[in-house]
Amino acid sequence: MNNLEGQIAIVTGASSGIGAASARALAEAGATLVLVARRADRLSALAEELGRGSTAFAADMADPDAPQRLHDFVLERFGRADILVNNAGMLHAAPIDAFDLDQLRPMIAINYEAVVRASTLFARTMKAAGKGQIINISSIGANITAPGVGVYGGLKRALESFTDCLRVELAGTGVKVGIVAPGTTSTEIFEDMKARGQPSWDSFIPPMQPQDIADAVVVIAQQSERTNIARIHVYAAADS
Ligand code: NDP
Repeated sequence: MNNLEGQIAIVTGASSGIGAASARALAEAGATLVLVARRADRLSALAEELGRGSTAFAADMADPDAPQRLHDFVLERFGRADILVNNAGMLHAAPIDAFDLDQLRPMIAINYEAVVRASTLFARTMKAAGKGQIINISSIGANITAPGVGVYGGLKRALESFTDCLRVELAGTGVKVGIVAPGTTSTEIFEDMKARGQPSWDSFIPPMQPQDIADAVVVIAQQSERTNIARIHVYAAADS
């Protein structure tokens, strides 16, 4: 297990849920965090809590310019990027009779385009440095469908396909690329889905806590020099 002492780790969607838990877990393993999301107040509070020179970068990652601004900020502030966790995401789930088509582009922008842009920009820099890790957060929805999640699952499947290709392209360069695909997890996204009475995967797989997913992120981040863990699916063993 590698100590992450002194490593620069960027986590998008760090203002709540899985992103905040992953940031805490990476900091506990020694990393300095760059926390990204729109809710600046939450990011600042978390950066202060984590210490180690951690910092907030408030941005709407759905803005096509945001990944470049994030990349340039990290390089200017720290001179390098060791770990990128693309976690920010949104879920509008509704069966076709109720699906709000105005949510389609925002979902594409944050769940897929932002991941491609950030991964590409940081991958180039990491490749030039000969090391780095990109960890993209997918979903159970990429592989197991449920009513109302066709668009969300489709975008996560696209994210996985892009991520798998990136791993193949970067093989042998020192840059590792992995996926964490969580089952249902008690976060704002999940609670919102439940509050709207939307059927979900938790009807057959019990929900987890954000820390459970953060543990998988850290397993990948701390893997040995010799391996590139491609994908971790995390499902609950029991209600938590
Ligand atoms: P949360 O709603 O708690 O977290 C979503 C995070 O994404 C927030 O920090 C939010 O911050 C950020 N975010 C959303 N839109 C943007 C944007 N345009 N720009 C920047 N940041 C944005 O939910 P989760 O923690 O559950 O979600 C994290 C990831 O896990 C997502 O990719 C989700 O698809 C995935 N996932 C979740 C599952 C679950 O059951 N909870 C299951 C499988 C996968 P802010 O609003 O401050 O911008």
